[in-house]
Amino acid sequence: MSNQPFKNLLNEKDNLELCFKCSFCSEECPINKQIHWASFSPRGKMLILRELLKGEGSLTERVIDTLYTCTLCGNCDTSCIAGISVTDILSAARRDFYELKKTPETFTTLMEAINRSGNVFDMPAEAMDILELNPKIKLPRKADLLFFKGCYASYHSVPNKSTTLALNVLKTLNVDFTTLESEKCCGSPAFLFGNMNLTERLCEYNVSKIEEKGASRVVTACPGCYRILKEEYPKFQKMDFEVLHITELLAEYIDSGKLVFKKNGIDRVNVLYQDPCELGRHCGVFEAPRKILETIPQIRLEEFDKNKNEAICCGGGGGLTIANSNLANKIAQIRLNEAEERAIPVVITACPACQLNFTSSKDKYNLEKLKILDINELVSNSIDVHKK
Ligand code: SF4
Ligand code: SF4
Repeated sequence: MSNQPFKNLLNEKDNLELCFKCSFCSEECPINKQIHWASFSPRGKMLILRELLKGEGSLTERVIDTLYTCTLCGNCDTSCIAGISVTDILSAARRDFYELKKTPETFTTLMEAINRSGNVFDMPAEAMDILELNPKIKLPRKADLLFFKGCYASYHSVPNKSTTLALNVLKTLNVDFTTLESEKCCGSPAFLFGNMNLTERLCEYNVSKIEEKGASRVVTACPGCYRILKEEYPKFQKMDFEVLHITELLAEYIDSGKLVFKKNGIDRVNVLYQDPCELGRHCGVFEAPRKILETIPQIRLEEFDKNKNEAICCGGGGGLTIANSNLANKIAQIRLNEAEERAIPVVITACPACQLNFTSSKDKYNLEKLKILDINELVSNSIDVHKK
């Protein structure tokens, strides 16, 4: 096979050659912790891609499966002592595989759904809107702040509930905001599966709709939407709005004294906070969620052994939940077992994907005593409505 088919990977050739096979990247890789087979480790993936780029080996179904068994969590990037971004290399390979029509079928099916319906659940746009759960909310047509809902919050009941609570909090704080009536998928799945054309089209569509609303700030509760809107959209086109995660906005309201929590009347509950990979390692938002959690009097924030930049993925990233939900659930157990072993009863998430994968893993492995809670639900339960 010639080098020619791997155009994007070719741009990473120098980085690939820097890899000296030390395996430091593999130690905390969540896949490597579950599949003890060298090819599945980040080091193994780098070696496979290096050979493919040299024209050695073939792109068989097994090779594709091995390379896509990855949450794109970025843990390997932080531990590579040669300074290689493994995830940049894997993402470049995914773009080439997409162009070569080698993307696994589960991912192409999902991208077809986005193309057809504008969302990952292939639901008609009017099928379920976040505001249906809360008919009392009447929003202005235009506002300076726009809440970008995302597919999970719009079409899946669990994140829908917690995101609706986030909207309630904004209403309670008298924040003037609006949403898009005709929002489409942010493009994060297309980006993760290497379909840059679809990512760009979704970017153009959503940016034009946001601009029609006159918003100067866009806030979202989904780290996947946040990363793509903040980090990738500006690469496609100029945007005249700022992008925030809901935790950053709420942390601002704490600083300004607008968001106040009820005083503690009972013993504080210990909680662990899961840094979502897309929000933390990929976008550097570590402190805003911690500020919220440290300010709520009813809880005491503890840290996972590996946290912030070193946090272990929940298992739900990179499309792994749809490609191999069993493996995604097993990876989630790493975090849930730590909470159990330390007798910490609550794990807080700030991401629909973490929330769903943790919840399904907890149910599967009968971790009945453990509670998985979205940070918006906690804020909604703890806000002092009399002090706003
Ligand atoms: S991105 Fe995460 S899952 Fe993928 S190889 Fe790196 S550490 Fe492993
Ligand atoms: S840590 Fe870096 S240099 Fe070492 S095997 Fe992993 S990617 Fe290669």
